[in-house]
Amino acid sequence: MKINQQFIKNSNLKLLYSIIRNCPGTSRVSLAKATGLSKTTVSSLVEELIKKEFLIDGGTAESSVVGRRPKHLYLTGDRHCAMVINWAPGSITAALIYLNGSIRYQETVMLEAPEDYSSCLNKLILKVRNQKADSAVIIGTCIILSAMIDRASHKIISTTLHLDPEEPVVETIRRILPDEPLAFLNDTACLAYAEKYYSSIEDNPFAFINLDQGIGAAIFVDGKLFGDASGMQTQFGHYSVDPNGRACACGNRGCLEVMIGEKAAGRLITDCGSNKHFKSLNTIRFTDIGTAAKEGDPIAVQAISTIADYLSAGLSNFISLIRPSSIVIGGSGTGLGDEFLCKLKQNIKSRGFQRMVDQVQINYSNLGGDACLLGAMQYFFNYYYSFTDDIHGHTFLG
Ligand SMILES: [Zn+2]
Repeated sequence: MKINQQFIKNSNLKLLYSIIRNCPGTSRVSLAKATGLSKTTVSSLVEELIKKEFLIDGGTAESSVVGRRPKHLYLTGDRHCAMVINWAPGSITAALIYLNGSIRYQETVMLEAPEDYSSCLNKLILKVRNQKADSAVIIGTCIILSAMIDRASHKIISTTLHLDPEEPVVETIRRILPDEPLAFLNDTACLAYAEKYYSSIEDNPFAFINLDQGIGAAIFVDGKLFGDASGMQTQFGHYSVDPNGRACACGNRGCLEVMIGEKAAGRLITDCGSNKHFKSLNTIRFTDIGTAAKEGDPIAVQAISTIADYLSAGLSNFISLIRPSSIVIGGSGTGLGDEFLCKLKQNIKSRGFQRMVDQVQINYSNLGGDACLLGAMQYFFNYYYSFTDDIHGHTFLG
């Protein structure tokens, strides 16, 4: 019984918080009308949120109604933050992010070898904690991984991080942060959640494609993320676009990731003939191809055409399967530029099931480089943070 009451109370507190976020200055009376809760219940819940410094009472509002004037309520936004750690191939970024989405502190360190992650994390976490000069409360820590996070085995699988498949990542990080609420989240899910939340996307279904070293997809149906943030539900990067194509680490052939993931950029340029400009680069990234294509480099233009061909083959089928109203493309693939997006759209319109592909909107993400960090903080707060329960020491996978 106690568990149910706590659950309902937490849900109501989150509902009030969310309404005030969407409509700053809302009064207690308006909250009662919007939620169907009694004025007494709303007042009690609001007082609790004020006491815990999630809300402030902004004073009385102008009103034409005779009698007591309603008081404006606002989110504090900067009294609580999450520590977000983004473990990408070759680097780890740690940041403190307030609930209002502003970044208190951020630092990135290069990772010499994948197995050094533990000592690297220890150093970063120490730095982050030393930087936190204000009195904001850290509500939990998110670890973002470009990987599938398997709840059943507690293992990190199918990752671009070059880790030993048996490496006990979850247990090792838990030992570094023994008492923290700790969430392990897939990178594509975090990017997609940021897109949905911060760009206020209402399209239904809505799909987000992370075109990067790995290639991932996240789908929102009726406003909710399909599956969870573990990356276990969809593996768009392992969608084969050529049954006789290159062998992929997953066991299949011709997977999108092995054919056109960013790691294949150098090979794609070589296949197109390469040239002096590209031969002078140590590593070829999507942004190098996009920049060169913009300047009319014929090798870059040809490589963009190849990447668009393969991705449009995958996306045309993807659209036939779930019929999204809109698709947003994010990740380093946005560096391929407008020419790539234009070519991709042309291909999809000429290949897919016409009725479906004619209606889907395809665009690049407009969010900046911190989107993944913001998405993780917001996902953690919305799904795992509890106003009523002590979640210290809890581990959330996906
Ligand atoms: Zn594969």
